[in-house]
Amino acid sequence: MRALFLFPLVFLALVACGGGGSNDSPVPTPTTPPADDLPIAVVDDEGITRIALQDLATRLDLYALGSLSDEEAAGLAYMREEEQLAGDVYAVLFSEHGLRVFENIAASEQTHTEAIGVLLERYALPDPATGEPGLFTNTDLQVLYDTLVARGSASIYDGLVVGALIEELDIVDLDARMAEVVGNDDILLVYSNLQLASRNHLRAFYRNLVNRGWDYTPEYLPQDAFDEIVDGEMERPAD
Ligand code: MN
Ligand code: MN
Repeated sequence: MRALFLFPLVFLALVACGGGGSNDSPVPTPTTPPADDLPIAVVDDEGITRIALQDLATRLDLYALGSLSDEEAAGLAYMREEEQLAGDVYAVLFSEHGLRVFENIAASEQTHTEAIGVLLERYALPDPATGEPGLFTNTDLQVLYDTLVARGSASIYDGLVVGALIEELDIVDLDARMAEVVGNDDILLVYSNLQLASRNHLRAFYRNLVNRGWDYTPEYLPQDAFDEIVDGEMERPAD
């Protein structure tokens, strides 16, 4: 009874849609997105997020080269080595524990530090990166690296906790560095995409902990900000 009653309505609706679609709005031909819409963060099924360096270069060409404050320049130097630290710690933790999440995220962190390297070159700034894994120009980051490698090597649990800690710290540090940027949208473009990557990596490490029955308490982010991130889905770039 009910199906028979609905049939004419469904039929009419299909005719209306089909008619409108074929006469008024032809199927759009796929086009390459304009350069200013190119997403520069690429997210895989596990949420591991790399920066597409070629697309970043295309995007950066569209920005006028502004002048940098000392704070902005110092921020780039710091973030260059902090992204390096993430990748170097994960590479060691992969060799210690053999867990694939460390290897995959280490590879994506390499693209993050390279993205900052592109900005250093763009502004003709000196590059603090030593080119030696585990060796840092910034002495605070050297101490942090040594501490986190020791802590994370103790067990798979400690390794995953260190992963989550590094991603938390990255989110907090990028917030602070973004607050110092004045009028240099090219830098904000990179920082905001690195922060999206860190939120996804935090989710990935947290899921690895939870799936093994382990809990995690944030050390850098406020609990509510942490909850909002790990309760959310993996993010893809909006632009
Ligand atoms: Mn990163
Ligand atoms: Mn990360």
